[in-house]
Amino acid sequence: MTPAGFTVVLRCSDPRLDVFFEREEHRGALGLGPRSNSDEAYICNVGGLLPFTGARRADLAEDIGTLLSIFGQGHGRVVLTAHSSCGGYETRFPAAPSALRSRQEHDIREVAYHIGQAMPGVRVSSFYLQLEDDIIVAL
Ligand SMILES: [Zn+2]
Repeated sequence: MTPAGFTVVLRCSDPRLDVFFEREEHRGALGLGPRSNSDEAYICNVGGLLPFTGARRADLAEDIGTLLSIFGQGHGRVVLTAHSSCGGYETRFPAAPSALRSRQEHDIREVAYHIGQAMPGVRVSSFYLQLEDDIIVAL
């Protein structure tokens, strides 16, 4: 996969992800270029997507639009991520891991759809990151 201009990555604040996103094979799987360049920006929250579910989806689209207009001349790509054993989701929705993952995947698809509608020129990719076994699942 070749990087498509400026990329906005939505991720959780979980510090384990700092290492995860640095790994070369992970960056390749996510379609990110070499880390040395400055054509990516991170939107980082507890739970990643969590603050942007429901009505606040529009706020996320607005933030992404702002970043792309400043750094990507209005073009670029969005990478949405959710991850396993996410403390943000676990705290908000006490549930079995499988139910939690279903919820995260539902949220990510809903947000991806909304961003696609709000910004038709922007490519949106979604991934579920299984930290424990180092697997990246494209959604
Ligand atoms: Zn998390």
